[in-house]
Amino acid sequence: MKQAVFIERDGVLNAIRVEKQQQVTPLTLEDFKMREEAAPLLKKLKAAGLILIATTNQPGLSRGYLSRRELDRMHERLRKAFPLDEILVCPHDETDRCPCRKPKPGLLVEAAFKWHLDLDRSFVISDKWQDAEAARTAGCTSLLVDSPWLGKVHRDFVLPDLAAVVEKILRLKSTDRVMAALAGR
Ligand SMILES: [Zn+2]
Repeated sequence: MKQAVFIERDGVLNAIRVEKQQQVTPLTLEDFKMREEAAPLLKKLKAAGLILIATTNQPGLSRGYLSRRELDRMHERLRKAFPLDEILVCPHDETDRCPCRKPKPGLLVEAAFKWHLDLDRSFVISDKWQDAEAARTAGCTSLLVDSPWLGKVHRDFVLPDLAAVVEKILRLKSTDRVMAALAGR
């Protein structure tokens, strides 16, 4: 079974505007500013054999203020800039009560089925509590970049920036390999 890293899109892969202490997701390609400095870090994870999957809640799709076409154009840019295997979107509103809107773990579970992932040995990167909660429910290790949106839910690690998160994952992964060898896995 494979190991994956799930990466929250907003705030990790693209820069985010903040209004009234809330993150505001970009609605147009023009507003979509990628964090290019993340590219070499993601390449390190990819080189270590990890599947890279971006995840994002985009309720604007079902509320009607974000067009699918505009979102597709943003994600085309993301795929060009970063070595992502897949981008998974929850298009639902809170009131839809879907299983995929984070903090629910639906996107992670869906990916595990499709990519044959071992969620217990997979990782979640984010700057928000919702992803830590989804990680906990799915059995993944959560690594949060310090931010005002971490809340009080369980998370495994809080680190100052994405570079520190990536180093931590690579260390955990090599420890895991040693343990697996010892256990004859
Ligand atoms: Zn959903």
